[in-house]
Amino acid sequence: MANTSDRICIIGGGPAGLACGMYLEKKGYENYTIYEKLNKVGGKAWSPKLKVTHNGVTEEKSFETGAIMGAITYHAVSEMEEFGGYYHKGPDFNPGEPNMRREFRKLDGKVDDWTNPKVDFSFKKLIGLLKLKKQMKKLNELMQTKYVGYDCYGHIGVAKGEYFGISKGVDGHCGATTENSFPNYIKGTNPNLKDLALPFSEFCKLNHVEEVQRIWIAPFTSFGYGYFDEIPAALVMKYLDVTTALEFVKLRLWTWQDGTQQIYEHVNAKLKHPAILETEVVKVERPEGKVLVTVRGKDGKEKTEEFDKLIVTTPLDYFKNYADATDEEKELFSKIVHERYIDYIATFEEGKSPNISGYMVENMVPERLGHAMVYYNRWQCLDRDCPATVYALANHTGDPDKDYDEVQKTMDEDMARVGFPIKDKHFAQEVYYCPHVSCEDYANGWYDRLEALQGNKNTFYAGEIISFGDMEDTCAASKDIVGRFF
Ligand SMILES: Cc1cc2nc3c(=O)[nH]c(=O)nc-3n(C[C@H](O)[C@H](O)[C@H](O)COP(=O)(O)OP(=O)(O)OC[C@H]3O[C@@H](n4cnc5c(N)ncnc54)[C@H](O)[C@@H]3O)c2cc1C
Repeated sequence: MANTSDRICIIGGGPAGLACGMYLEKKGYENYTIYEKLNKVGGKAWSPKLKVTHNGVTEEKSFETGAIMGAITYHAVSEMEEFGGYYHKGPDFNPGEPNMRREFRKLDGKVDDWTNPKVDFSFKKLIGLLKLKKQMKKLNELMQTKYVGYDCYGHIGVAKGEYFGISKGVDGHCGATTENSFPNYIKGTNPNLKDLALPFSEFCKLNHVEEVQRIWIAPFTSFGYGYFDEIPAALVMKYLDVTTALEFVKLRLWTWQDGTQQIYEHVNAKLKHPAILETEVVKVERPEGKVLVTVRGKDGKEKTEEFDKLIVTTPLDYFKNYADATDEEKELFSKIVHERYIDYIATFEEGKSPNISGYMVENMVPERLGHAMVYYNRWQCLDRDCPATVYALANHTGDPDKDYDEVQKTMDEDMARVGFPIKDKHFAQEVYYCPHVSCEDYANGWYDRLEALQGNKNTFYAGEIISFGDMEDTCAASKDIVGRFF
């Protein structure tokens, strides 16, 4: 067990790294250092500002290139909001707040209101919707009975038919607002949980709820988390537990006025030791009993600092490139795969930008890899003058990866095809996204092997890999690691 006087190095000033700093401080640890290689904190919660002109008025507004939304189930993020003093908007939005309104758009440019039985009524559509509703209800019941225990952060024990972790409180009993209810560790045995290693599409088939994929696909695949034939069901259900999925359906989501990055900028400003920016960890050596961390600052100079403990919140498959990784770390981390998610913020030809966010469901299948799947319209008040963020995936298991430039070109063509011709692009990027392991490695207990390594060589692993690649799961994973090991 660590001592509160221990010198702790945290690699990464994203949500996970800052959450580690905050939770350590809350436990009385004040001797920590966070290194961040960029000149800003927040990692993939990145909210640049753009100048926009509407009705002759020019102003600066925040846009999102990374994390956008949260929900009632975001307990750890709530704690970060409280610490930093910066809070979300929603689920009910006032005019002038960034909301999550959306439409579904066919590739011929027509709006497809498939969720509303009254629009383009047909008996086939009605029967399809009734079937979907029935299967949603069935899945909800199954998750609370057959799959009891699925709703905690992390994957400890799942491959063995066990569960252990902080409850997500998806039944509403564990909200961040209820004192002492978060964290609430849950633990138990449930052999059915092994099914969660199956790809989500097979999991749905096994349980005769295939239709629910029509709902889950929009917040999952279009938001870059991969295709249902390749991602273990455990990951899908960790993120989109039934409560979160229903909040998405009902449009009861959270956004942040100045962007998600500001959650972390505010936390950082309140930390006793804010992240040291533009300082990249380039080497880690762990001789007996200590941790030597070499960093490169913005002047290009390297220096080595000594610590007692190390928390890695950055990609573990890269960690092995600059650390003295053991054979087991090397072998384990080489199994990590990630999504290649591409996005950019676009401005459109005059009066031709979307004035609501849109999902292009036809593009959310592996056969349409590299096509635009979703566009995000953040400011309803800017109407057709609002820039939008456009997103596509560039990889799928078993298919050749798509080239970055080729994907961007395809995305431009898709947007023009549905009626939104792009004029300029800003902040285009390819993101290392949603690290995870294959269904096979999941079933073979990869996460239990990672758990067994926690603390070896004074090293702890946090970040997206622990539970899932969203803000809540990463911050909660930090809470869990700090809670159990410090
Ligand atoms: C397009 C997009 C949309 C998203 N939408 C949502 C959403 O709506 N809701 C949601 O909850 N989540 C969303 N996410 C996911 C969410 O942003 C991530 O899960 C979260 O940021 C992960 O936090 P992290 O700290 O684990 O990793 P990161 O955010 O990746 O942070 C890691 C940090 O470590 C730094 N770093 C890396 N290597 C080093 C090194 N050697 N030395 C020092 N620093 C280093 C990086 O610069 C980075 O700042 C989205 C992400 C993207 C990209």
